[in-house]
Amino acid sequence: MTVNAEPDGFLLDQQLLVHLEKCTTLPSPPTVAMRILDLSQDPDVDIAKVADVVSMDPALTAKILRIANSPLYAIRRKTENLRQAIMLLGLNGTLTMALSFSLSSSMHNNAGQGFDYTLFWKRSLAAATCSRRLSVAAGMGAGEEMFLAGLLQDIGMLAIDKLQPDFYSNLDTDQSDHNMVQELEKRAIGADHAAIGGWLLQQWNLPETLQYAVAGSHNLEFVDRQSEHFSHAICVAVSGLLSDALLLDDGGQSLLPVLNLIKESLAIDDETMSGLPETLNEDFMEVASVFETDLADYSLSEFLVDQAKETLLLRNLQTIQKSEQLREETQMLETRTRSLEEQARRDGLTGLYNRAYLDEKIEREFKMAKARDWPLVVMFVDLDHFKNVNDTYGHQIGDEVLRASAEILGTCIRNDDIVARYGGEEFVIILPGCPQNPASVVTERIINKFRNKRHPAHDGTEITVTASIGMAVMGEGVTFSSALELLGAADKAVYVAKDQGRNRSVTYSSTFDQSMNLDSNLVSIS
Ligand code: GH3
Ligand code: MG
Ligand code: MG
Repeated sequence: MTVNAEPDGFLLDQQLLVHLEKCTTLPSPPTVAMRILDLSQDPDVDIAKVADVVSMDPALTAKILRIANSPLYAIRRKTENLRQAIMLLGLNGTLTMALSFSLSSSMHNNAGQGFDYTLFWKRSLAAATCSRRLSVAAGMGAGEEMFLAGLLQDIGMLAIDKLQPDFYSNLDTDQSDHNMVQELEKRAIGADHAAIGGWLLQQWNLPETLQYAVAGSHNLEFVDRQSEHFSHAICVAVSGLLSDALLLDDGGQSLLPVLNLIKESLAIDDETMSGLPETLNEDFMEVASVFETDLADYSLSEFLVDQAKETLLLRNLQTIQKSEQLREETQMLETRTRSLEEQARRDGLTGLYNRAYLDEKIEREFKMAKARDWPLVVMFVDLDHFKNVNDTYGHQIGDEVLRASAEILGTCIRNDDIVARYGGEEFVIILPGCPQNPASVVTERIINKFRNKRHPAHDGTEITVTASIGMAVMGEGVTFSSALELLGAADKAVYVAKDQGRNRSVTYSSTFDQSMNLDSNLVSIS
């Protein structure tokens, strides 16, 4: 990396840094606060809904990612996308935090008066959407990260506005002339919002991809041409230009040169390119609709604060003060419903999820992963020579071994992962949002636990049953057209694992489809 990554990484001067370091709370748009308020009252709220709303707001997104990556949450790997962050913080934690945060930093705190917030939010959100579309169109993958980078690219402007509340009102230009604004920032402060944004993200310990893509969004020279971050920075930079052109609404006049630039700089093929303007326009209309209601009104914000305070209060009171009778009744009903639902989803012998629930769940996870470009891992776990256990020790012992195997699998995964009995002595594990490397750690753990487990037989002897695992990973450039195809890939990989001698894990590779015997292309651990 040629960029200097010291604390003053994005070339900011010392005095500016001292001020920026104090800048921890940046303003949020009331529209988002309003939607979060709605969600906090919605009994069917789920992670996807929360992620959708949170991702409309750059400051809030940054805050949530920053908290998820803080030492408060002792995690093994960096939380790179909102879904992971929200899962980590918990749904309620995220909601409450989002609500308090977006309100405490609403427009009427000590932010400047001259900054065009509506323009800022519109540009950020439009750029985020474009950036995700472009990264997918260019086959770069990392759509979710690119969405975030697009969303956060102008976050430095909020910091400048907070530091110098009259800065943007004193500018000698229309704020919609984004490039001119950036030039004037450089002249007046010695750094533009892109460099400041990159620095802020670095301070907040957000992933490097985001830091460099934001810092490079106006200054590609911050990013090493050879590094993977270079294409990300280009993607974000053109998404900003694209968003400016769409916001101009001049009948497509300024859009055309930007589209040409996109085609050249991201090497998008003609066919994908031809459908792009229409898709981008549709995305943009959706973004614009978010801003249709004018919520930037002070009195409405006041109203919102009151209403939110009340909701927060109620949320707390509910848990402490609900009348005993009501609580018991609800609890009883909930328990009964839940236990019936659970029963229908569970496998009688092992207590794991059953095939029917797995089919439903895998479809849902696949759709979600696909829509948001999140990684998704599916594993097939098949016990080795299990028939021998039945033949030698009888069916009852066989059943005990199956139960113990289910228990082992349960100890190898996290709460949000899913393990199901696929049938017989075959199990399926789904790891949503999990990239390949941590998934390989899970397979290794499973293989070792099986290898070391001694199952007691009634005659005092001990039985060891090993497992073979086939894993398929969607993400990091590899994609599948359906949940069934992803599951099928894991199934093919387990065949290969058996073929290679069992007691091991094999990761699916597309070469399996050409030749199931091509050992050199397999990734295996034993
Ligand atoms: P491989 O290593 O190739 O997977 O060999 P295997 O013997 O494990 O595979 P195979 O498919 O030939 O045999 C699976 C066995 O699992 C046969 C069946 O009797 C046994 N099985 C399936 N379901 C149950 C069950 O619920 N209880 C018991 N005890 N055995 C079961
Ligand atoms: Mg089998
Ligand atoms: Mg088997």
